[in-house]
Amino acid sequence: PLRQRLLVVANRLPVSAVRRGEDSWSLEISAGGLSALLGVKEFEARWIGWAGVNVPDEIGQKALTRALAEKRCIPVFLDEEIVHQYYNGYCNNILWPVFHYLGLPQEDRLATTRSFQSQFAAYKKANQMFADVVNKHYEEGDVVWCHDYHLMFLPKCLKEYSSNMKVGWFLHTPFPSSEIHRTLPSRSELLRSVLAADLVGFHTYDYARHFVSACTRILGLEGTPEGVEDQGRLTRVAAFPIGIDSDRFIRALEVPQVQDHIKELEERFSGRKVMLGVDRLDMIKGIPQKILAFEKFLEENSHWRDKVVLLQIAVPTRTDVPEYQKLTSQVHEIVGRINGRFGTLTAVPIHHLDRSLDFPALCALYAVTDVALVTSLRDGMNLVSYEFVACQDSKKGVLILSEDSTISGCWSNPCQPWNITEVADSIRQALTMSCEEREKRHRHNFAHVTTHTAQEWAETFVSELNDTVIEAQLRT
Ligand code: UDP
Repeated sequence: PLRQRLLVVANRLPVSAVRRGEDSWSLEISAGGLSALLGVKEFEARWIGWAGVNVPDEIGQKALTRALAEKRCIPVFLDEEIVHQYYNGYCNNILWPVFHYLGLPQEDRLATTRSFQSQFAAYKKANQMFADVVNKHYEEGDVVWCHDYHLMFLPKCLKEYSSNMKVGWFLHTPFPSSEIHRTLPSRSELLRSVLAADLVGFHTYDYARHFVSACTRILGLEGTPEGVEDQGRLTRVAAFPIGIDSDRFIRALEVPQVQDHIKELEERFSGRKVMLGVDRLDMIKGIPQKILAFEKFLEENSHWRDKVVLLQIAVPTRTDVPEYQKLTSQVHEIVGRINGRFGTLTAVPIHHLDRSLDFPALCALYAVTDVALVTSLRDGMNLVSYEFVACQDSKKGVLILSEDSTISGCWSNPCQPWNITEVADSIRQALTMSCEEREKRHRHNFAHVTTHTAQEWAETFVSELNDTVIEAQLRT
């Protein structure tokens, strides 16, 4: 039988593109995250999105389009000015902080107010550009799945082209309480555009509920257990917690290169317990809070000082934004102080890396870790936690997770990330947990992570979308 076509639309294509000549490009698929969707066998998936590079000339655009087609990717070309206003501006400077409860940028409120209109206009324009590309490639019967806060206008643009297009939208970040959402000047327009979709999905039931109450309180629409109703038309709203491609991690541990890595790390840190943090260096990840809690733990448990090491991978992100630069130097300062305080001539308690690791190195690290420490202040769905669990089948380490880092179905030592005494205590408990308890928790978590995968998540969303459309047709 013919497989249904699935058009996945996201801001970024899952590839990195480097120009090699006037008409030649080299492409690398960035695995992980959404690219797991390419492995979903039930659908014939195609990707539509921005390739992350500015290609002003037609020859370059044609060559890139050809190269991407082989990877089932279709590019949307955005020029520098649009990227600046839409992506850096409206998406990252307005929507990201508001959706993570950091509020509108504080530093220069007036400048924000002034630039707001032009950034919002660019946001709408960019969404329209995505819609134009989708429309060019759309065929009757296709499912169109729009992703994330970058594309909240897309459902509306798509339905304007074709009212019977099957359109789903999924948010990968939290959706905040309506009390927060209502601070956005464009709050109503954003909600109405999303509501044009047939199915709207969130990671958790809480986020779905926040969205429905924003629609009832701000737009005055009716919220039902099924979703949001507007003059008899229902937009279905539901929770679909994402998972990871767990097999990819489990298989990686068998690769000789990864096993060599594991051996090296075990030798390097022998005699010490390994604690691990893997985060983008973002405000929402609570990295300073985590490091301060570790300091508190060392302060109060002096016998642990030469028996534990914290490896913090802090992947640089949005490095041109002043607030992120400030965070980087703040973290460096704290790490330096703690290493000065508790380090010896031969060892330091914290290894802080300002860079990303490749996949084999990351898997090896996950595998040798005794305690993973996730202290997000707000987080959509924390994939690092799942990846850690997938790599722990021999070690059976412990996961410490702040109560604001969303994951579903896993057992962890929950703590309040701002309360460093509580986090320090969770560290102590995790490091001294009995084998039986660790084993019991790991078995539960491993079973969850390997059965609630990214593939399953995608299949559930798309089949729910198909069903929603059929039900709506029956109703009219
Ligand atoms: N990651 C990576 N290289 C690194 C560190 C992290 O590829 O050096 C990946 C990691 O495997 C995970 C993702 O980055 O899939 C982070 O996802 P998460 O949901 O934890 O946080 P986000 O960055 O999306 O907020």
